[in-house]
Amino acid sequence: MGRFTTGAGAWRPLSGPSHQLALEILLDGPLSRAELTRRVDLSAGSLTRLTKPMLESGLLVEVPGGPTDPRVGRPSQPLDIVPTSHHFVGVKVTGDAALGVLTTLRAEVIATEERKLPDHSPDTVADAIVELVHSLSDGRPQVTGLGISVGGHVSSSGEVLHGDFLAWEDVPFQRIVGERVDAQVVVANDVTAVTEAIHWFGAGRGLSRFCLLTIGAGVGYGLVVHDKLVDTIESGLGLVGHIRLDPDGPPCHRGHRGCADVMFTTHAITSQISEAHGRQVGYDECLDLAKNGDPEARRVVGAAGYALGRLIAAASNFTMPEAVMLGGEGVQLATVAQDELQAGLRSDRHPSAVPPPILLQDPSFTQWARGAAVIAIQTFVLGK
Ligand SMILES: [Zn+2]
Repeated sequence: MGRFTTGAGAWRPLSGPSHQLALEILLDGPLSRAELTRRVDLSAGSLTRLTKPMLESGLLVEVPGGPTDPRVGRPSQPLDIVPTSHHFVGVKVTGDAALGVLTTLRAEVIATEERKLPDHSPDTVADAIVELVHSLSDGRPQVTGLGISVGGHVSSSGEVLHGDFLAWEDVPFQRIVGERVDAQVVVANDVTAVTEAIHWFGAGRGLSRFCLLTIGAGVGYGLVVHDKLVDTIESGLGLVGHIRLDPDGPPCHRGHRGCADVMFTTHAITSQISEAHGRQVGYDECLDLAKNGDPEARRVVGAAGYALGRLIAAASNFTMPEAVMLGGEGVQLATVAQDELQAGLRSDRHPSAVPPPILLQDPSFTQWARGAAVIAIQTFVLGK
């Protein structure tokens, strides 16, 4: 696979205080010049000087509709971002496939595509991602940034220290892909990426504190406090997966009884119900069986919901979020086992504590890839 070129000048970073301006307009635009000078603490002259190249490059546009400016006697023209001025590709890598999306600067998904992975060697996975970028951007404007997310432990320099579903140890994947494409490449943990997508462009907008629990092949946790992602070297270790929630639950491979990993991952639920029924039962069918009163499915799904409620209580007690987001492909558990979830939540909360709003997120797999794109968008706007 040859080096993929996204076009001359594709990667042109913002400079200096332009980052803060672009960020304010991206998240809250259109904004008037008066509002911007207040928010970024600039003189009107400095604002004009900084926004001029951003207007000329097509990143910003003046839109009609502002109030009349008393100094000039005509309507002011608020500034907005042109979402299609920059495009980003986000790719989520699983054990089986690389799923990609092409997005605008405001993380609107324009196209999706998938590539099966014939094996897990870093070169094979990198080539599949380059193919995805090539195909997604075919005939479209240049790609500014490429974000890649994986389940597992990723360093701040994009080295995959441990990849959960790829059996990778210490793979400098950001560098490996960066050598193949001209766009800026960033690699991040998948839950971190989705948390940032919710934070900047989703249900977390305007909240100072929220947490995200993802339910699926594993259990993930992301946290935003004071409007900032809490990101440590331990993000991606799957720390909440082994919190013990049910003393009567099955044991996990690390010897915990009833930890999150064996209570409500998709595998935990399907394996218990499949065993009881003597055949392979898929996740959706497990939830349907529970809904329709199948006793064994009801017991397993109910215990899973109760355990999830206890985990939400623990997250709420420790981090006092304004809302708890539930995401991941297994999120329908929260609907089918709603009563058990609420009972588990109540059991570990103070009776006077207000229950946190629980906001269910889109469980489609596209959201993971969109999260990866948001990491690339953040890198561009913040100049990280
Ligand atoms: Zn465990």
